[in-house]
Amino acid sequence: MRDILAPESARWRRFTQVFADVVEGAGYRQIISPIMEDLGVFTRIGEATDVVTKEMYDFVDKGGRHVALRPELTASVCRAFVEHRPVTPWKAWYSGSQFRYEKPQRGRYRQFDQVGIEALGADDPYLDVEVIALGWEFYRRLGLQQVRLLVNSLGEPDDRARYVEALRAHFAAAGDQLSEQSRVTLTKNPLRVLDSKRREDTTFVASAPTIDEFWSDAAAAHFEAVRDGLVALDIPFTVELKLVRGLDYYRHTTFEFQGLTLDSAQNALGGGGRYDGLVESLGGPPTAGIGFALGLDRTLLACDDEGTFPAPGATVDAFVVDTTGGREALVITAELRAAGLSADRAYEQRSMKAQMKAADRSDAALSIIVGTDELAAGTVTVRPMRGGEQSAVARADMVTTIQHLLSIHQNTEA
Ligand code: AMP
Repeated sequence: MRDILAPESARWRRFTQVFADVVEGAGYRQIISPIMEDLGVFTRIGEATDVVTKEMYDFVDKGGRHVALRPELTASVCRAFVEHRPVTPWKAWYSGSQFRYEKPQRGRYRQFDQVGIEALGADDPYLDVEVIALGWEFYRRLGLQQVRLLVNSLGEPDDRARYVEALRAHFAAAGDQLSEQSRVTLTKNPLRVLDSKRREDTTFVASAPTIDEFWSDAAAAHFEAVRDGLVALDIPFTVELKLVRGLDYYRHTTFEFQGLTLDSAQNALGGGGRYDGLVESLGGPPTAGIGFALGLDRTLLACDDEGTFPAPGATVDAFVVDTTGGREALVITAELRAAGLSADRAYEQRSMKAQMKAADRSDAALSIIVGTDELAAGTVTVRPMRGGEQSAVARADMVTTIQHLLSIHQNTEA
């Protein structure tokens, strides 16, 4: 778990803002749900999922309830859907921290942030395409180019079940040649053996049956429509028949956005899929659902690699230098802030020189200087910090003069 200081924190905020702009523009509205839920909400995600069995921060609270910090948000959103029964299709977006007890490394943390969307109550394959397209558009707005979209279909639950049995048989036949970890995975969730990158497993993973042999006609048609929609929107994609993703609840469409500049162990920038049975398993009516979660941390690493979406610079409009004791700075900064300008100042009655240094550091466009002469004359000295003449301005005209100077300044910078 990490502290995020400025200017990186400002970058995080802007990241969420860009995401909100993209998805709000498509009718998704924000949901803010609790960071902690009843453990049962998450165990429905799948008893065979590492996220649930090994990585959850769960504990018994003072009231004896078994609760957990959320490891992801789809289950919480579905729980909220069951509780509030909104009109469908219900399109929600979120942002926030998730918690997983993983082995920390670059791009993998125990507290990490995600943004995401969920659309509940519509089984339309073009909704799958809309969801994928919004993720794609978001990366485009961040300026990322090195992103690859992988898509697959896990079919209907029956197709998936038959496929799992075929995989079980396939990997069981490998016997001891399979890595020890994969033999353990095989007993719990044969699908996840496909994710193994261990050397011993590669040939068996490569020769494993693929899900397309098990698709029902309906599943094949759904996936066909998804691919056709992506083509219609000019979104490049690769069909990856072994893409199963980490969570057990997916059916039909699954997809992943990979960052091509990142290490293969951490290159999943985000992903999602359909989870038509999840609401039902949380006690709601049978409800179709699709969504994605995109990791903030890894996406920003990808932005760094591509030299895009830098942290915004921190600056203020005006820095007030007051050598008369500090009370004038208090009043002037308040007046400027009330007029909608940003203003900062120095404290503790520092020398003129020290205050001017602080003004430089603040990267302010203007400094507003008040000494005993200005105080007596009812004026301030306004000094442009990036070249230009300083001038004496009556206190009564201060705000308008500063607004005028800043607008000239902005025009010359633009
Ligand atoms: P998931 O919820 O597992 O489908 O993950 C969606 C995205 O969240 C991933 O593609 C990552 O970008 C991000 N993510 C998942 N786990 C972590 C983690 N431990 N640290 C940082 N990012 C993560």
